[in-house]
Amino acid sequence: MFPTFRSRFVTQLPGEVEVKPGSRQVNGSLWSPVQATAVSNPRIVAHSKEVAGLLHLSEREMNSAEFTQVLSGNKTAPGTHSFAANYGGHQFGNWAGQLGDGRAISLGELPSQNSFLELQLKGAGPTPYSRRADGRAVMRSSIREFLCSEAMFHLGIPTTRALSLISTGDSVVRDMFYDGHPENEPGAIVCRVAPSFIRFGNFELCAARDDLNLLKKLTDFTIDNFYPELALNQVGTNRYRALFSEVSNRTAKLIAHWQSVGFVHGVMNTDNMSILGLTIDYGPYGFLDDFDFDFTPNTTDAQMRRYVYGNQPNIGLWNISRLGMALAPLLEADESYLEEQLAEFKVVFEREFSQIFARKLGLTASPQVDQLLGTLFEFLSAESIDMTLFFRHLSKLTSRAEFKKFPDELLECFYGPPSGEHLKNGLNWLNRWRHLIGQSGADFTAISNEMNRVNPLFILRNYLAQEAIDLANAGDFTRIDQLLEAARFPFDENKVPAPFCAKRPAWALNKAGCSALSCSS
Ligand code: AMP
Ligand code: MG
Repeated sequence: MFPTFRSRFVTQLPGEVEVKPGSRQVNGSLWSPVQATAVSNPRIVAHSKEVAGLLHLSEREMNSAEFTQVLSGNKTAPGTHSFAANYGGHQFGNWAGQLGDGRAISLGELPSQNSFLELQLKGAGPTPYSRRADGRAVMRSSIREFLCSEAMFHLGIPTTRALSLISTGDSVVRDMFYDGHPENEPGAIVCRVAPSFIRFGNFELCAARDDLNLLKKLTDFTIDNFYPELALNQVGTNRYRALFSEVSNRTAKLIAHWQSVGFVHGVMNTDNMSILGLTIDYGPYGFLDDFDFDFTPNTTDAQMRRYVYGNQPNIGLWNISRLGMALAPLLEADESYLEEQLAEFKVVFEREFSQIFARKLGLTASPQVDQLLGTLFEFLSAESIDMTLFFRHLSKLTSRAEFKKFPDELLECFYGPPSGEHLKNGLNWLNRWRHLIGQSGADFTAISNEMNRVNPLFILRNYLAQEAIDLANAGDFTRIDQLLEAARFPFDENKVPAPFCAKRPAWALNKAGCSALSCSS
């Protein structure tokens, strides 16, 4: 039998009393009770063994008909008080008012190790927050979310997780390119898992509505349940200040991690920012193939370029400042307090960024290494070079005493023919790098091994996810499990099949889903 749920969000926070039909503005409540809408023919397509393990769910249970029914929203497990959360958000820089879980329905929490994890069904049907949309999700975006949440976890990056991917048997109508050509697509439901899905936007909505009482309840709830160490040591305003500072630190560190693997979230709206500092809401995300500060996978952002790779740290800061404004009444914040906090965000981000990238180069952070990094970014940006493979291949070169010509190992990472001038700069850079490696006095093999622990060989490139999607649309789901298996060992060349570690093939450069994606999901 499915284990019994409980839900602190529902039992400890104010919500709507009755299940009511229809989309609406919900005032004075942090959640609404909502039932998932049944689907016609649910089938479990994939699941994460690790996440099942965290929840003490066995392989036999995960493959049982009963679990498929629960994870598709067709059957209610014991203790369930399913709900949709009420939140707002800044979308592309503008206040968007109430948004809320328009297609995510939380079932509640299950025990895991020393705490609890919340399970949420994304695509399980309409809620009071669905506005004019259908509450459903398509298979292609669900495959992407399922795989990437697990891939990010195994890269060591804080993230929501994914337990299961279900095909619903129903079709969903989407205009994928927003060009007036809606089509039927297969529907799917991902069961996402995290300690909590609370976003910056939950706080912002309370503040925008001047509902101080609700804001305080939500903030106390967050501290008491998810930041217990702050609850123990601080009282009054200091509790709230400690929370804000901790969220700010976690967000700065999260974005430094994203930068280190070339992850571009694509839609860093404040409703997509986790109060726990997790990567949340995988939509039109992408990993850099060729290193480019100006890259965004999101076609909706192609003009504004707000959420491009190089701007993610600035947007993280902007989003933190929105959170600070929302929490201002509790923080008793004046302008100088907020300014100090934002300055602190920059310090934490830069320190983390320098440390991670120094490690990627086999070095220890220092002003000299920062300079070396600056030159490397110029070199990588100047022509089309694969970021992941460049760093990974560099680890093979630690024992070379001197570079007389640009090494073949790194030439392999180029997407086009390199220019002589560019290679000359690269050669200079390599010799500077090698000089610092030599100065460190450490054993070359040990340095290479260390570098291989932070420079992944496998990242979930968009074209890899798209191939799995194309196969799934043709009825073959095996590639999803193969990619999930590769994603479990992103640093280990003995475990990841070589074809998954290659640079982006030429055919994928302009193919839909392989480099650029719309928000349609
Ligand atoms: P996102 O861009 O996915 O973060 O979604 C922004 C807002 O739109 C959130 O409030 C979502 O719940 C809502 N939303 C997105 N897609 C749907 C859908 N198909 N049905 C209902 N609400 C949706
Ligand atoms: Mg969202």
